[in-house]
Amino acid sequence: MTAGHLPNKLGVHALVWTGSWDEAELNHAFEQSRRIGYELIELPRFDPAMISVETLRKLLDKHDLKCAITMGLAWDADISNPDPEIARRGEVMLENAVSACRDIGVELLGGILYSALGKYPKAPTAEGRKNAVDAIARVADKAQAAEVPMVLEIVNRYETNLLNSTDQGLAFLDDVGHAWPKLHLDTYHMNIEESDIGDAVRRAGDRLGYFHIGENNRAQLGSGSIDFANAFSALRDIDYRGWITFESFSSEVLDEGLSNDIAIWRNMWTDNVALSDHAYRFMVSQIEASMVRSGRS
Ligand code: MN
Repeated sequence: MTAGHLPNKLGVHALVWTGSWDEAELNHAFEQSRRIGYELIELPRFDPAMISVETLRKLLDKHDLKCAITMGLAWDADISNPDPEIARRGEVMLENAVSACRDIGVELLGGILYSALGKYPKAPTAEGRKNAVDAIARVADKAQAAEVPMVLEIVNRYETNLLNSTDQGLAFLDDVGHAWPKLHLDTYHMNIEESDIGDAVRRAGDRLGYFHIGENNRAQLGSGSIDFANAFSALRDIDYRGWITFESFSSEVLDEGLSNDIAIWRNMWTDNVALSDHAYRFMVSQIEASMVRSGRS
């Protein structure tokens, strides 16, 4: 299937396929993704100690795939921490990520770039938020110079305490005061935190830089309660032309760190080929339907 007639290109998260950085495993994941029609693979927590930039580049070229890198900061390297030393370590982590993304030639660097990924024990402090605003502004300068698009993922309250809603994200970007960083929205998180996913997408407007499609329980698309027609119609309303990436997680495929941080305890599917193939067709048909509804088909 080709999606060349659509306003968006589609990606898939690597954890649908594998939690390993083994070259043969990645090769298989890239091959499967491309065969289905995906044009981008999202790799979480890229670590040059696990796979070299050269090897990754070679695999991407071989399968004609683009790549996005997403990450969250760590408790001891968190730019939203009021402790300047901990905040500084978070900034170094972001600087290293920007360099790696430049070398790989990614489509974007996304995720929870503004805080640790996990359940915070209390609300953020004004001091901590200011540290994050200032650090993101400095990192945005570096990302812009390196031509690495940078997007901040808004996630639910159990995965950060700083940016849980689109409006918080927009206010944060206003305070950063830099045109380079954009918002990264995700239906799974929006389902928890927004009153209406479509309205939130429309408020993000041209500051939306990346979009994740996930079901409310991160299982097969369409099997849960999310109103995807509402989400895709809103993407058409704002004429979003960026990447749309499918995310789904199951205890069937585990990445030790990430799976624990985002609480993947259950087996939501076993056949990842059927899952990804269905997701691709589901997203294409949702985009096509949204184009018909908006009279742009
Ligand atoms: Mn996401």
